[in-house]
Amino acid sequence: SACLLGVHVKYNGGNNDNIELKDFLKSYEVVKVCPEVLGGLTIPRSPSEIKGNKVITKDKRDVTKYFQEGALKTLEIVKKNNIKIAILKKNSPSCGSNKVYDGNFSNTLIDGDGVTSNILKKNGVVILNEDNYKEYKW
Ligand code: SF4
Repeated sequence: SACLLGVHVKYNGGNNDNIELKDFLKSYEVVKVCPEVLGGLTIPRSPSEIKGNKVITKDKRDVTKYFQEGALKTLEIVKKNNIKIAILKKNSPSCGSNKVYDGNFSNTLIDGDGVTSNILKKNGVVILNEDNYKEYKW
């Protein structure tokens, strides 16, 4: 997730800069992506959550197609670069893995994958996040 590496792509125009992660990645080849921006969404943009099989903004717009487009473009990049491992921001409706917000903007997590994580997992990519990447046997 590009936002973890300090790129200002987050919905509110900020980032999730993680200095420890950036240090750790110094010895690896890294490709930075933000699926939501790749999918055509703006910075800033309304926060979104997954609701059923759709992605809906806080102001109730259906942005599913942008999330799907971003996921497909991310998959293309992954394939082109032969990427095996992705470190993606936890809980995001694109990048989250195993846990995402419940679609009610109530700060409640439920089991599930973000749209991009889901498609990458289906294509055999190992998905890690900013909390668990060190546990992986690199
Ligand atoms: Fe970060 Fe992923 Fe959200 Fe982009 S889509 S801001 S990379 S969590």
